[in-house]
Amino acid sequence: MEPLIRMRGVGKRFGQFDALKNVDLDVAAGEVVVLLGPSGSGKSTLIRCINHLEEYDSGDVFVGGIRVERGRNLLKVRQQTGMVFQAFNLFPNLSVLDNVALGPVRVKKLSWDAAREKARTLLGRVGIAEQAEKFPTQLSGGQQQRVGIARALAMEPRILLFDEPTSALDPEMVGEVLDVIKGLAHSGVTMVLVTHEMGFARQVADRIVFMEAGEIKEISQPDVFFTATTNERARAFLDAVL
Ligand code: ADP
Ligand code: MG
Repeated sequence: MEPLIRMRGVGKRFGQFDALKNVDLDVAAGEVVVLLGPSGSGKSTLIRCINHLEEYDSGDVFVGGIRVERGRNLLKVRQQTGMVFQAFNLFPNLSVLDNVALGPVRVKKLSWDAAREKARTLLGRVGIAEQAEKFPTQLSGGQQQRVGIARALAMEPRILLFDEPTSALDPEMVGEVLDVIKGLAHSGVTMVLVTHEMGFARQVADRIVFMEAGEIKEISQPDVFFTATTNERARAFLDAVL
């Protein structure tokens, strides 16, 4: 079967610096892929090339068979992808409900009534239905991130991209957000996740992709990666974080 995400020979430079070098990666529909690697290894850059938040300068990225590039196809790619950011990036002047409803109103041309009804359902799904009328700053970090996830889901994406979704949270709130993500994994939606939560990565991933210095150094099953990697760099990374 054609992979949902297909990256071939992808390169990205910032000035003289190679942030991504010759990256090849296929992600199957429904698969959960976790990107691990030291800070600066290119994880965010890779994930951002999938929805063209970052423009790659060599190789090809395809999402659902559509090449990810500037132009009229980009909307089709963006309609298939939702992204959850480390810093939540909620709209402070909109209620929680309207943060979730806005995308479908703008992009899918739903009425506000229809979009809000759907948003309520999604807020229930992430466990914060009772927060709907509040504003983002009135919520805890964990609750705000759950709004971020509901907002991504509102677009009914085939792909969810998570870039360190719990890194900005106080430790006691990490679990509630990881639980929501675990609940979504293997529900049919395809996920590419960057996280520093190793236990979670091992539990949720179908495959672990280990990056260093802009390159994919290893792709393996989580149990193999965490117990038996033969890659020296991956071993050193695990020794440092576990
Ligand atoms: P990671 O997410 O693994 O920490 P990134 O993908 O954010 O790594 O960054 C990879 C490298 O590219 C880093 O060295 C970073 O400093 C550099 N980089 C990322 N974005 C930019 C940018 N907009 N301009 C210049 N350098 C950047
Ligand atoms: Mg990053």
